[in-house]
Amino acid sequence: MKDKIITCIQCNEPFIFTAEEQNRYHARGFDEPIRCPNCRKKKSKETNINQPWKDQGRKKHRRHKNRKNFKENSLE
Ligand SMILES: [Zn+2]
Repeated sequence: MKDKIITCIQCNEPFIFTAEEQNRYHARGFDEPIRCPNCRKKKSKETNINQPWKDQGRKKHRRHKNRKNFKENSLE
């Protein structure tokens, strides 16, 4: 495999997708990156700060558990 030059969809800067990285991505079944390493870092930082999906998942799980308990209690 050869090094590849990809243009970042976020900042439009070209970056090198090295042969080594390509091997790693293929081994894990990932698609080619569409963002440069800088934008990828920024993006993961943002999701770490917000984490809206994480809280929602927890709340849903707790609500579901409570409902189940309520049903079990009303049957007795
Ligand atoms: Zn970028």
